[in-house]
Amino acid sequence: MGKDYYEILGVPRDASPDEIKKKYRELVMKYHPDLHKNDPEAAKRMAEINEAYEVLSNPEKRAQYDRFGAVGAQGGGRGGFDFRDFGFGGGGDFFDLDDLLRNFGFGGFGFTENRRSTRRESEAPTRGEDIEFPITITFAEAILGTKKEITLSRKEVCPTCHGSGVEPGSGYVTCPTCHGTGILKKVQRTIFGDFITQTTCPTCHGTGRIPKQKCHTCGGSGVVTETKTIEVKIPAGVDTGMRVRIKGQGHAGLHGGPRGDLYLKITVLPDSRFERVGDKLYYTAHITFPEAVLGTKINVPLVEGGYETLRIPPGTQNGAEFHIRGRGAYMVGSRRRGDLVVKIQVDIPTNPSQEEVLLIEKLKEIYDSKKTQ
Ligand SMILES: [Zn+2]
Ligand SMILES: [Zn+2]
Repeated sequence: MGKDYYEILGVPRDASPDEIKKKYRELVMKYHPDLHKNDPEAAKRMAEINEAYEVLSNPEKRAQYDRFGAVGAQGGGRGGFDFRDFGFGGGGDFFDLDDLLRNFGFGGFGFTENRRSTRRESEAPTRGEDIEFPITITFAEAILGTKKEITLSRKEVCPTCHGSGVEPGSGYVTCPTCHGTGILKKVQRTIFGDFITQTTCPTCHGTGRIPKQKCHTCGGSGVVTETKTIEVKIPAGVDTGMRVRIKGQGHAGLHGGPRGDLYLKITVLPDSRFERVGDKLYYTAHITFPEAVLGTKINVPLVEGGYETLRIPPGTQNGAEFHIRGRGAYMVGSRRRGDLVVKIQVDIPTNPSQEEVLLIEKLKEIYDSKKTQ
């Protein structure tokens, strides 16, 4: 006598066709080579299961086997496997698990399609999340651009399991919650007929398998949170409220997916000397009445430090504006720098000395005589 097919499938000798089918399905879920990619034993086991099912699912072959302990001339091999039982047109070494499920009668409810997509989502490389990091910089840094070292808490790929969440060397087992299907199915009987709803299995997140032992470093998540110090470049011209994107410096992705991005949320400290409007910087220069009348030279501070000397011509009016070219602000992404606009404010003395009063009275006399002429 050859192999005991009943023992291989784990069913009693008087098992009904339904029982055999059910048991076979369970075994497929457990031993399908898709679930044990690196385990040649699983493939061998699966072949044996297929062989047993091929015989026991066919009433004629089963009767023959029960009587003679073998079927036909051959004791094994998958040559005679009747794929038509499942609606297959043919078969490779192993048929697709999803196709198999469909042919066990789940096809009509979008089961297979849903299952495929949950599987893809959960095992596919997933991009890491973005990080938003608030950062405060000085006025000059905002105008001219800067580099900053920032320290942030960030998810990194686990160094122990390299992101798989599995303790090295432990492998996977079929998920006990969903028995490897990746979904939980609920049949609701309604007056319109049976209605099947399904959800992604919360235990295995749709993968149908769970680590035999979770990685001791990351607890199975595949990522660990680390404190990192990185240097970031803030371009010239940023302003309060802007978000600067630093590509690929966010959280680590899952299953080999790319990192998310880091967004720096900018706050710019004010500078009491300057006011920014677009690419222009405004600076108010205070001069005296005689300076306005006679002309003068003033030192205008620059945002990058130092001064630039500006000539104020005779007869300059209050509120007059002078442009110092290319000493204003950059706009983000532009190499052109705007102007520094110097606004003239002629100060009127509020507390003049006696000497000043005498001189101004003298000046007034001259003005008055001009008026009456
Ligand atoms: Zn790990
Ligand atoms: Zn599961």
